[in-house]
Amino acid sequence: MFVVGQEAAWALALRQGDRRALAKAITLTESTRADHRAQADVLLNKVLPSTGASLRLGISGVPGVGKSTFIEALGVRLIDQGHRVAVLAVDPSSAVSGGSILGDKTRMERLSVLPQAFIRPSPAAGNLGGVAEKTREAILLCEAAGFDIVVVETVGVGQSEIAVASMTDLFVLLQLPNAGDDLQAIKKGVMESADVVVVNKADIDADAATRALAQLTSTVRLLGLSARTSADPESHGPKVLALSALKDQGLDAFWSVVQSTVEARKRSGAFAVRRQGQARAWMWDLVHAQLHQAFHAHPNIRSALPGTLAGVDAAQEAPSAAARRLMQLFFTPRN
Ligand code: GDP
Repeated sequence: MFVVGQEAAWALALRQGDRRALAKAITLTESTRADHRAQADVLLNKVLPSTGASLRLGISGVPGVGKSTFIEALGVRLIDQGHRVAVLAVDPSSAVSGGSILGDKTRMERLSVLPQAFIRPSPAAGNLGGVAEKTREAILLCEAAGFDIVVVETVGVGQSEIAVASMTDLFVLLQLPNAGDDLQAIKKGVMESADVVVVNKADIDADAATRALAQLTSTVRLLGLSARTSADPESHGPKVLALSALKDQGLDAFWSVVQSTVEARKRSGAFAVRRQGQARAWMWDLVHAQLHQAFHAHPNIRSALPGTLAGVDAAQEAPSAAARRLMQLFFTPRN
């Protein structure tokens, strides 16, 4: 399937927007085989000059909030306007369930049949750097293939939201209008990382949506996040708005908010700064993950660890001394 030495032809097919080449390239990055990994690195470096031009949009929310309905409505609309839209999923539950709840083929039926759309379910977990790492590479590959809007979707549980916020230009949090007190329960970190908070399903009960908007706005204030203004587009605090993904109402307003935020950030330079910060963080994440892996795989560590842990548990060796001793063992050349 993957022929060594054909990366140049492959990169070309990818840059020409060949969706099969794109799908194969993403599969290659997901492989755990060392030769595939090396080939994926060659391919990624080859296409790197053709990446970076898309708008990377992160979308999160609890199951049932309407993420796929929203992404489909938005995607179809953007394709109508001449865009090419890729949708990638980060599914933190795939490691547990073995399957991907976001990978269900029946989702986004209207969008998935369009040639200007590319939908890729969550990669298998368990690779170095986790699922988020693979998604970062998939973003680059989609960009190389000419997709100018890349949506990264995740369910609103655990750390996945923060991971998605850290790989996208703009992070959107979807909320239900009847969430009531739950609105208060939104984690501060998630709220801080959100650029736009969308109250979906406003068609069900307009009053509830209005109440939810007011509540969210006060939550933003309570958290000490000031609202963004045109004078200070980078002040921390999400914009809040209500819409109906199902009835296709409010999506134009949403897209204007996205565009004006992105334009303001491009003017101020914050857009590029965020991208650079993300690229560095990505590199460090991988360095740390590989060091961690190498540490635990080292024969000296493997043999010394059980005894060391027992010593620390029994307060026979100070944790700091144990750490230094382990590091010395790690740096001792193997026999
Ligand atoms: P996801 O799990 O977040 O991807 O949610 P889905 O997009 O699958 O939507 C869950 C359910 O909510 C589906 O039955 C949708 O038809 C419905 N839904 C999504 N958006 C809206 C909306 O704006 N209004 C109403 N009334 N229902 C919606």
